Amino acid sequence: MTFDLLIKNATVLDPSRDIYEKKDIGVASGKIRSIENNIPDNNAIDIIEAKDKIVIPGLVDLHVHVWWGVAHLAVEADPYCLDRGVTTAIDAGSSGSNTIAGFQRYVMSKTKTRILAFLHISGMGQLDNEIGELEDIRWARVEDAIEASTLHSDSIVGIKVRLSEHIVGKNDLIAFERALQVAKEIKKPLMIHIGGSYNSLEKILPNMRSGDIVTHSFTQKPNGILDNKSKVKDIALDAMKRGVIFDVGHGQGSFSFPVAEACMEQDVIPGTISSDIHKYNARGPVFDLLTTLSKYIYLGLSLKEVIALSTYKPANAVNLNDNIGSLKIGADADIAIINHIKDGRFYFEDAEQNIRNGTELLVPIVTLRKGERFSPKHSVHPQLTHKP
Ligand SMILES: [Zn+2]
Repeated sequence: MTFDLLIKNATVLDPSRDIYEKKDIGVASGKIRSIENNIPDNNAIDIIEAKDKIVIPGLVDLHVHVWWGVAHLAVEADPYCLDRGVTTAIDAGSSGSNTIAGFQRYVMSKTKTRILAFLHISGMGQLDNEIGELEDIRWARVEDAIEASTLHSDSIVGIKVRLSEHIVGKNDLIAFERALQVAKEIKKPLMIHIGGSYNSLEKILPNMRSGDIVTHSFTQKPNGILDNKSKVKDIALDAMKRGVIFDVGHGQGSFSFPVAEACMEQDVIPGTISSDIHKYNARGPVFDLLTTLSKYIYLGLSLKEVIALSTYKPANAVNLNDNIGSLKIGADADIAIINHIKDGRFYFEDAEQNIRNGTELLVPIVTLRKGERFSPKHSVHPQLTHKP
């Protein structure tokens, strides 16, 4: 076979298939055609020499905001996702039933990044920063959300609801109930955003099903997963045992090193690692998903673990493990070539201005989406190496 592109001498890491060794990868017509120990050069039109690089499945970011121009917080997907290793970006509630058709026509269909969405139970999605989308509960219309989810079933992977008091007032329980009702009806997961809710998690978590997702799991805000002695609450442990997925969703205000460290000490690690990249954190403290993964390497997870939590685990969470999150022969050539710097000096900041000094950083080099190449505008963000 003649390959359009051959990636040579890479360290290939695909946790879904337990591959972590030196391999070559042949790509033709946008698909992965071959993964072998040694593919001869003369079978390729073009070659990427990837010695000393790590080659992983294109990352799957379970929580982003990319309904650019409509949702107040959104960024454009390609520069912040695809150029930086993320081939599948899952928008977490920027759109609702009133706006999903536009999101699909004007963004999803025109963007190189593969974009999927959790539909917000609020018809407006996340339009505004000052007025919460469910302060008026009339925005949460079950029938409209079911109809939109059915019409756009190819791109909607689940339902989203944000439960913080500044967003929903005292409507958190009714908003949660309505979102769960839609998720049950369409047989897809519910993603809830926790932190600062009016009611306690005791009234919410026990109702979540296996496969439902909690995002902002490691928030420092009230009504998080730790009790006042920094112990992981029993209701959270019960939910984890039941199969509820505890996602990171770093964001601008929702990831705390002290919370994540307390959880690590109690052997509570995330079920998935997502960035919650948006306009208010893309210049720090999030930067991108690879930086978020690097923070978990700092916290003690291995490279293989963080890549699992950002490839096949989120793919599984949205029931797309047949198509994304692994390097399969015949699958779309969605591949990230990254550098694993091990001897640097990096200043990692959480959402509360806590700083940790790390030595390891994952940085994007080249990302392939259906075999087409994309590169970042910068490799290491300058702020990561400046002492704050
Ligand atoms: Zn978000």
